[in-house]
Amino acid sequence: MSAAASARPGSLVRPLVAGNWKMNGLTASLAEIEAMAAGYDAALRARIDLLVCPPATLVGAAAAKAAGRIAIGGQDCHARASGAHTGDVAAEMLKDLGTSYVIVGHSERRADHGESSAVVKAKAQAALRAGLIAIVCVGETEAERKAGRTLDVVGGQLRDSLPEEARADQVVIAYEPVWAIGTGLTPTAADVAEVHAFVRAQLGKAMGEQGAGVRILYGGSVKPSNAAELMAVPNVDGALVGGASLTAKDFLGIAAAYR
Ligand code: PEP
Repeated sequence: MSAAASARPGSLVRPLVAGNWKMNGLTASLAEIEAMAAGYDAALRARIDLLVCPPATLVGAAAAKAAGRIAIGGQDCHARASGAHTGDVAAEMLKDLGTSYVIVGHSERRADHGESSAVVKAKAQAALRAGLIAIVCVGETEAERKAGRTLDVVGGQLRDSLPEEARADQVVIAYEPVWAIGTGLTPTAADVAEVHAFVRAQLGKAMGEQGAGVRILYGGSVKPSNAAELMAVPNVDGALVGGASLTAKDFLGIAAAYR
């Protein structure tokens, strides 16, 4: 379905609620995928796209279990299509397993693996090459926010991570303040609105009219209890969810903000 279909009033895009399981999940966790697919009922299907990004070990089985009912994605990909890169996974391999999205530039990869925005851009380009939608993550650290550098940092990451050739339906931006990830802390609605409006404006500068059609997700301690407030913020077109995406109950509880 096109990103524009079933958009909320006042928005040009169809929301996306995406789960990032990180390095969590064994084969038993596939039961949660089954429950998520079962809970993605007609009311939700009419309003949002639902995506789960399990660890690479579960991607194939999750895609088989989801059987097209919900989308499955990867959490990272290599910039190259194949070659001598032990332990890495190519975007083409993810596509081959039945995925439709891949997260690139998550702050944990930027921090743990020293990924620069140039590397993130190359990975996003690999996703496009393979026919996957790239979810490009950006966000400031606590020190950067305290120093008043949030928009500088987010703007720089966006400028340097986003492939120039990307169309609106090929990329999703996830704004994830690093200090809000896994901490239970969230920015105020006004702070989220400021950054999302800024990202929307930057997308307009970089992509012209296409910029209005790119989905901008908020990520960082989204839970069923705060989802409705965060998802109602202008230019918030859905959520990237870590911890609360591990169970169908919580993940569908967040999706319910769109019922
Ligand atoms: C994330 O890792 O992308 C994330 C948003 O995590 P959490 O929801 O657990 O804060």
